[in-house]
Amino acid sequence: METMILNEVEEVVETDTLNANDRCDSCGAQAYIWVNGITGDLLFCGHHFTKHEDKIRAYAFEIIDERHKLSVKRESSAANAD
Ligand SMILES: [Zn+2]
Repeated sequence: METMILNEVEEVVETDTLNANDRCDSCGAQAYIWVNGITGDLLFCGHHFTKHEDKIRAYAFEIIDERHKLSVKRESSAANAD
């Protein structure tokens, strides 16, 4: 039996798989990443996906990343260029 493990899950499918009712399995925040893996599917918020990204990518067959839905406000500390 061959074990096929795809280490590089680069395909990002832009779709409306996730909605406001989908919750992060770790913290219950709104989920933006759906992961289909070895033991089933998981949901992650942006925070927990980033936190566990290495493990998730090793585990996942398929990742749907909808973080583009997030209105990310990047607060730059460059203002303090003193
Ligand atoms: Zn979370």
